[in-house]
Amino acid sequence: MSNFTPHVLTLALGIALSACATAPPQAPAPAPAAAAAPACAGDYMTPGGTLHATAWMQRSAEYRALTSTTYRQAIPALARLLTDAAASADLKQAGTGATLPPAVVMDLDETVLDNSAAQARWLATGRCTGDFEPFWDEWTAEASAAAVPGAIGYIRSARAMRDPAGRAVRVIFVTNRECRAPAGGADPCPQKQQTLDNLRKLGLDSPTLAQDTLMKGEQPGWGSEKQTRRDVVARDYRILQLVGDDFGDFLEGARSSPVDEREAARCRYSALWGERWILLPNPVYGSWQVRLVHSGRPPLEPGRPPVTFECPQP
Ligand SMILES: [Mg+2]
Repeated sequence: MSNFTPHVLTLALGIALSACATAPPQAPAPAPAAAAAPACAGDYMTPGGTLHATAWMQRSAEYRALTSTTYRQAIPALARLLTDAAASADLKQAGTGATLPPAVVMDLDETVLDNSAAQARWLATGRCTGDFEPFWDEWTAEASAAAVPGAIGYIRSARAMRDPAGRAVRVIFVTNRECRAPAGGADPCPQKQQTLDNLRKLGLDSPTLAQDTLMKGEQPGWGSEKQTRRDVVARDYRILQLVGDDFGDFLEGARSSPVDEREAARCRYSALWGERWILLPNPVYGSWQVRLVHSGRPPLEPGRPPVTFECPQP
């Protein structure tokens, strides 16, 4: 399953509600509560802060300009990395992959696949928290997610690139879409075929697409923490770039790191962003949100000076 989970959405609602004292007025929640509340016993999800975030993804030229620019700038960076045999985007691989063929590792949801239509559908119809799993299964089975602007061009460009030894760049997807066998089903991971179908519809097929798509739960030990799967890739490939929308797509342990540690890591690895670590915007959900809630801090800090967020000069 994607990071787009009921847990995260519930947290989003929690953030939105706890921010009521300081947040600007928001559009009133649509009516779903009236119909859904009895069945959900009050445990239904309302738009909260995700309403505006989803609208920004779907309606703003700014979002699309940002993703397409990010991807366009990643291509010359990848060309530079191909000529630097010591370079790796994976911190654990640093300096050890010089003889390996090149690869990039990409997340899928909100990196290659744009699920904002599912988010909009969820918000528009109002569902119980417990409805999320079948809702997400239904969405995945449709295999109809659009591409994040810029992603297709980046993937095609990467696949066409060669290292000095003439070896093509392999594009490997490490996704937290989860393998879950349906009750009575023979296929232990129908989500994988559905995801491959979606990628093929977007023109991203390759002879090794199935082999190059690593799902959560597909093998023992392949959990939400993606380092396990990056380690598998790093055995056979030099990872030139990591591409994702969540800190966990880049750094081991980042998904569960406290807010301050994440901020310190952002600065510690500032030279990697935009060069080896290619970050796409996702204002709707992510591990940042989960960590914020667990931090016990208020979601908004109106008095905090912006200069706080500048990284120390090296
Ligand atoms: Mg993602």
